[in-house]
Amino acid sequence: MKLSGISFSHVLPWRMAPIVRGWIHRLGGLLEPDKQAINLNVCVDIVEQLSHVIHDVIVQQNKRTEEYQRQKLQLETIINTLSDAIIVTDSQHALIMANPAWYRLFEASPVCLGQPLLHSVRVPCLFEGLSQTQKTGLSNTIDFDYLGRFFKARITKLSTPVFDGCLTVLSDVTQIKIAEQIRRDFTANVSHEMKTPLTSIAGYSETLLMGALDDPTTARNFVKIIHNQSEKLKALIDDVLHLARVESPALKIENKPVVLSQIVNDVISDYREHPKQLVFSSNRFDVTVVSDAQAIRHILHNLIDNAVKYTPSGGSVLVTVRVDSARGVSITVSDTGVGISQNDQRRIFERFYRVGGHSLKDGTGLGLAIVKHLVERLGGTISVDSTVGKGSSFTFSLPQ
Ligand code: ADP
Repeated sequence: MKLSGISFSHVLPWRMAPIVRGWIHRLGGLLEPDKQAINLNVCVDIVEQLSHVIHDVIVQQNKRTEEYQRQKLQLETIINTLSDAIIVTDSQHALIMANPAWYRLFEASPVCLGQPLLHSVRVPCLFEGLSQTQKTGLSNTIDFDYLGRFFKARITKLSTPVFDGCLTVLSDVTQIKIAEQIRRDFTANVSHEMKTPLTSIAGYSETLLMGALDDPTTARNFVKIIHNQSEKLKALIDDVLHLARVESPALKIENKPVVLSQIVNDVISDYREHPKQLVFSSNRFDVTVVSDAQAIRHILHNLIDNAVKYTPSGGSVLVTVRVDSARGVSITVSDTGVGISQNDQRRIFERFYRVGGHSLKDGTGLGLAIVKHLVERLGGTISVDSTVGKGSSFTFSLPQ
């Protein structure tokens, strides 16, 4: 560092030199190790040396500030975009920090910062959990429901030399709870559905063993009943396994070009000889979609099976294919059968739901649940339109 060609060391009073060297040493200590190698014995201008060290310290500090800002921004972005709600409370349970998910959940605003938590959140068990963790230092997990949703709160003590409080992370576990309930209901339903045919099989076979076998006519009737019941059990187990397969993420969907007219005509031809003497028809179409032929065939079979089952003799079943720029390709199976009430239309895609609570003899109640899953796996949607006494139309869409 020179001013008008005059070296500052020339004007630096000799008493100042050790002091300046001390500064250089101390400032040098702030630098990274590789920059600390300042050889004071080298005969260079001492003020210039100081200026170099100051410059390096400033550059390094700027770098550190930038890095700190970058990390702070990164952390803030992560916390702000987390779907889990996060808060930090101090030892008096005042709210110190909260992320947007927390404000959204409790309809609160940053005005609550610095205020006791209880002012913005009226969940007593959460407050009790916080008090416990604050007192014992042990982490805590609390389950609670709030405005119809279920939450899991994990509370951890935050103890640093400058801060004493707790970190609470709240996860919305409503979907998990619903899935658990569905699983429980499903197991209960399967057991219930199996019980009737099994009781019947056990009862009739026992009666046979106790003597009915000796009467050929009775024995024949009983064996027929046992056979029917075991067929129903088999149908139920097949549908349960099928549903598990279509619900499994492992289900492979083979996307290949599929000519719809070919599949529709194939499926309809299976019913031509049907004893109900229904009229089967389809519109003329020539559409190719990239989808899974096997899945489409299964969906159509199920819908046409139902149409046949719930349409009296002499009625008709029509399959229509439409191409629409908004919905893509849609296929409708319409019948002139018994129809479905508005109330039942809302529930028929649920597992085991049978209109009027028919027993297993009318079907497993799983067919439409399987259909809905398959349609969704193909990227489409399914809907029903029906009038009691007039008939029903089931329409599913397929992306083109
Ligand atoms: P199921 O094996 O009992 O037919 P589904 O899941 O296929 O089970 O159908 C559920 C219920 O929806 C049936 O019990 C039936 O009452 C009603 N349903 C389905 N399709 C039709 C239809 N085309 N016409 C009238 N009712 C229908």
